[in-house]
Parts: sequence; C-alpha cells; structure tokens
Amino acid sequence: MATLFTKIINREIPAEIVYEDEHVVAFRDIDPKAPVHILIVPRQEVSGLAALPELGDHTRILNAAKTIAEQEGLSGGYRLVINQGPDAGQSVDHLHAHLLGGRTLTWPPG
Ligand code: 5GP
Repeated sequence: MATLFTKIINREIPAEIVYEDEHVVAFRDIDPKAPVHILIVPRQEVSGLAALPELGDHTRILNAAKTIAEQEGLSGGYRLVINQGPDAGQSVDHLHAHLLGGRTLTWPPG
C-alpha cells in the first residue's frame, strides 16, 4: 500500500508542493514548527534511515535542500532534520528530511 507521502507525491492527497525533480518531492509540513517547514521526500519508498539502501533517490535530498533553502530565501541559515524511529518521534514511515528555517533555531533540539 502506498505511503501517505507517496499519495502526496502522486497528487492523491493535496499539499503545497514547493519543489520536485526526478528523485525527490518537497512540500510544506501540515503542522509547521518554524516559519519555513518543508518536507523533502524521495520518490522511492524507504521506511527510514534504518532501512537506507546504498544508492537511490535519497542521495539527492541534500542537493534539493540547498536549492529549496535558496528558493525560500533562507540566507540566515536553516536546519535539516531526519527523525528515525520512535525515540526520535518518526510518525510517517517514508524517509523524509525536515527543512526548518525563518527563525532562530535553538540547540540542542528537544
Ligand atoms: P516525522 O514525525 O515522521 O519526522 O514527520 C512527519 C511530518 O509529516 C510531521 O511534521 C507532520 O506534521 C507531517 N505530516 C503528516 N501528515 C501530513 C499531511 O497529510 N500533509 C503534510 N503536508 N504534512 C503531513
């Protein structure tokens, strides 16, 4: 069965898509934790970092993040986060990176 994010990628569920290429699709998080909160999702369904293949669409996440950050005007900085497993609060089992910016981000994260 398709994941929630594959349904968004296939336009079966609406989302504000801000970037896409052959390997990844990026859209605004439905529950943003910063003025800019974008999810970058590889088209290939991989459940998370723990199941990462050696090669695949995920290898383009960082390049997409750089492009999107420029597109969003995040010249002051931003953060890329991947939650893996229950201890990190992963809630969607389709690998994704959170691109957060538009405010000062505290460290360490909670
Ligand atoms: P995780 O907790 O797995 O790292 O991140 C999942 C993210 O997906 C959460 O930040 C959550 O707000 C977001 N999310 C869940 N359902 C939807 C949805 O239907 N549309 C969008 N745009 N984001 C979603």
